[in-house]
Amino acid sequence: MTKRPEPRQDLALLASYHSPQVDVEVRLSTNEAPQGPPVEFMTALAEAVAALPLHRYPDRSAEKLRNALAQRYGRKMDEVFVANGSNEVLQSLLLTYGGPGRSLALFEPTYGMHAQIARTTGTTVLARPRQDDFSLAPHTVAEVVEAEQPDVVFLCSPNNPTGTQDPPGLVEDTLAQVQSYGGLLLVDEAYGQFADQSAVSLIGESRSLVVSRTFSKTWALAGVRLGYLLGPAWCVSELEKASLPYHLGALTQAAGLLALDYQEEMDARVDFLRSERQRVFSVLKTLPVTVWPSDTNFILFRPEEKEGRVVWQKLLDRSILIRDFSAEPGLAGCLRVTMGTSQENNQFLAALEEVLS
Ligand SMILES: *Cc1c(COP(=O)(O)O)cnc(C)c1O
Repeated sequence: MTKRPEPRQDLALLASYHSPQVDVEVRLSTNEAPQGPPVEFMTALAEAVAALPLHRYPDRSAEKLRNALAQRYGRKMDEVFVANGSNEVLQSLLLTYGGPGRSLALFEPTYGMHAQIARTTGTTVLARPRQDDFSLAPHTVAEVVEAEQPDVVFLCSPNNPTGTQDPPGLVEDTLAQVQSYGGLLLVDEAYGQFADQSAVSLIGESRSLVVSRTFSKTWALAGVRLGYLLGPAWCVSELEKASLPYHLGALTQAAGLLALDYQEEMDARVDFLRSERQRVFSVLKTLPVTVWPSDTNFILFRPEEKEGRVVWQKLLDRSILIRDFSAEPGLAGCLRVTMGTSQENNQFLAALEEVLS
């Protein structure tokens, strides 16, 4: 008789994170960039890859990439941690500062992977709600930090999937609080390049603050899997201890390093996506939906007269995939659309109008 091994009980309870990957004409579901990276980048990458000594392990400390990132933000290399997507950054952070017997405070609805990564690392999740309009009330943060002294606090600004930035001053106030008992504050800025405020300038050796960012959204490199964290050197060196040796491949390092040479193109794309966001937002305002303002490359909305799930399905029937949050706690009926090319956005708007009428 054979007996199949049981996975960890706490993992078995988790529904795995999934955004359906189906074949559609218009894919506006995972906040990716609508266009591939610049052609010149792809050519330069092919050349760089051809010259890579792939029989050797990559640079274990990814020095060139970290130096280039450090320069971009006016920081030093030892204040930069790099990993396979910012999800791996967050995992390394919770392996290091979370774990069994430790806790993470977060504010829902927010990025679902935050709680998921916490649970896979055995970290207790202290979830607190945002306001009805999805803004984050400073007293909500202050209360959980004071009452529970969480080891780690995650803010997400601009927040996914709701789209808005946290109120000014929240990072400073929360930081003062967590530092009083030895906690750590992370600000997830996956959409930082779309926003007009950032916590990066607050980083310093005497501050328990780290900021995570990614190449997946703005840099049009979701397929590469590259994310990074900016923070005090003492924290970065602890994160490195929790990482597997050579965790960031030579191909990933090369792609990230090259991408940084295309800042102007990337900025132009961000500008374009912001203007599309304004345009799509104005049209949504004229339809029977509630729509929330956004500082990102996506918009959250809720059909008022029809069920969210039904609208989502009818869009999918028209080969348009957006993200369905309608059954998620705190997001009843809500859908999220990522900004695509002008044509894709027009297709989405036309189909939505038809579905809602
Ligand atoms: C997309 C996203 C990430 C993770 O992206 P990676 O592809 O793993 O870099 C992290 N945080 C938020 C809020 C996101 O939306």
